[in-house]
Amino acid sequence: MNLACKIIASICFSQEIEMNRADLAYGTGPVVSSLDKVLSTFHVQRQAYHGKSFVGNHVHRCCTVEVIEALTAAPMKVMLENMTDDVPLAAHEQLLRESANIKKKYSDIFLKFADVHHGINHARAISPEEINQIDICIKEFLNSFRASFPSSNISPSLHLLEDHAVEQLRKFRVGFSLLNEQGGELIHTDFNRTGRVVHGMRDPLQRLMAVMRRHLVGTTPEVQTNIAKTSRKHEY
Ligand SMILES: [Zn+2]
Repeated sequence: MNLACKIIASICFSQEIEMNRADLAYGTGPVVSSLDKVLSTFHVQRQAYHGKSFVGNHVHRCCTVEVIEALTAAPMKVMLENMTDDVPLAAHEQLLRESANIKKKYSDIFLKFADVHHGINHARAISPEEINQIDICIKEFLNSFRASFPSSNISPSLHLLEDHAVEQLRKFRVGFSLLNEQGGELIHTDFNRTGRVVHGMRDPLQRLMAVMRRHLVGTTPEVQTNIAKTSRKHEY
């Protein structure tokens, strides 16, 4: 009898949940909209033409502890703000636990991705020690990814990162900034700045050559290393 009561109670409870459940189209719920609000406070936009993904400088801006903290805390915040008295205690507990899990899981993976991003997406020369650190960061990121999303496939980009990135870094000893799209986006600012400097040149070819020469001098690792050496000599 006791068991029957329990079963009936649980059926009633699940029906109650069903009745109270609002059907929301994917990506339109209160938690998701709160994420966009968080992003806009940090002036980050998801690009409509890239399937609402992040590009260029916005990736860079997102990869900071501050933004990651705010983003991953959003589900819990929205949940607490919208909690009303008619939510059953068990459902309340479940929501609390779930939003805490979301925070833990995503802050871990975002922070690890941020480490990888800061390690590889720039145009600086990289020392062998740094490459070893980057190697560890990539491995940790992929381990977390597999543990958190066991049913997800490893995308071609993730495969390149996992199996080929370090090899290429060891070969060229410079960040990927000059090769990938995100790096290219970061370089826009450099080109704009140089463009303003040479603005006064009349000949368009001369202007372009000046921009390219300055870019080459600024980004070639060998040149940068030599500049560092000379300035150090002057110190002594
Ligand atoms: Zn491969």
